[in-house]
This record gives sequence, structure tokens and C-alpha cells, in this order.
Amino acid sequence: MRPTSSLTVRERATLGWGKVRRFYLAHFRRAYVRESLARRVGQCDRTGACCRLMFTCPLLDTVSDPVRCRVHEVKPKVCRLFPIDERDLRDRDILSPDAPCGFTFVPREEFLRRGSAAVHEAETRVHIETVDLPRS
Ligand code: SF4
Repeated sequence: MRPTSSLTVRERATLGWGKVRRFYLAHFRRAYVRESLARRVGQCDRTGACCRLMFTCPLLDTVSDPVRCRVHEVKPKVCRLFPIDERDLRDRDILSPDAPCGFTFVPREEFLRRGSAAVHEAETRVHIETVDLPRS
């Protein structure tokens, strides 16, 4: 994991824009988020990289192993939904290029080739309000 102090100005700008983008998507683009999360596979490996974008979140318990969110049960929607799409993975990989996220995405074109019934069925399984709750 790179220390946030090693981030370049350009990388900080990318990560800052990513935070704005995720907030917008999480709060105003529910259909996009639902479709994107329907393509998401894998699980959170609790590397904590997404809690260190630009700065280390003060609510991240870095003593516990693996790291944990101190407010997991009520953490913000942008945290629960991360990663929303491939751009979030690219952002996150700036900080942690050697330890990949446990999530990946089925490419959109491949996902859509499954047909509208399968796509719809996958999307109906995504419940944005309860993603990542409670802790397993
Ligand atoms: S609130 Fe929790 S999940 Fe969100 S960045 Fe902070 S530690 Fe991570």
C-alpha cells in the first residue's frame, strides 16, 4: 500500500474527482449503480485501500487485522457501494497496485450479451439500500 503522502498532484486530482463521481452516482444515478453492481463479482478482501483514497479515513480501525470500519453498520452509502464500477477499481489501484481488490466486473458488453431477461434478473437481485449490510 502506497502512503498517501507519495501521491502526485495528478493522482490526488484523480482520486478527488472519483469521490465526487461516486457521491453523484450513489445519490442520483440509482439505475446506473444497480446495473453496474449486477455486473460486479467477488467479495471485499478488506485491504482497506478504498478507505485511504486521498487520506486515511479516521473511522478506519487500522489496528485490527484485517482492518475494519468502526461504523460499519451505519457507514455512508458511497462506502457501502464501493466499487461502483471499473473506474473505482482504477482509482483504488493507484493506492494499492500490488494487492488487488476482491471485486471485479463482468465487462458491460459481455453482461448485456446474456440477454435482457438475465440482465433484468441480475439487476433485481441488487438492493442498493442494503448492499454490504450487515457484516458477515
Ligand atoms: S466510513 Fe468506514 S468504510 Fe467509509 S472510508 Fe471510513 S472506514 Fe472506510
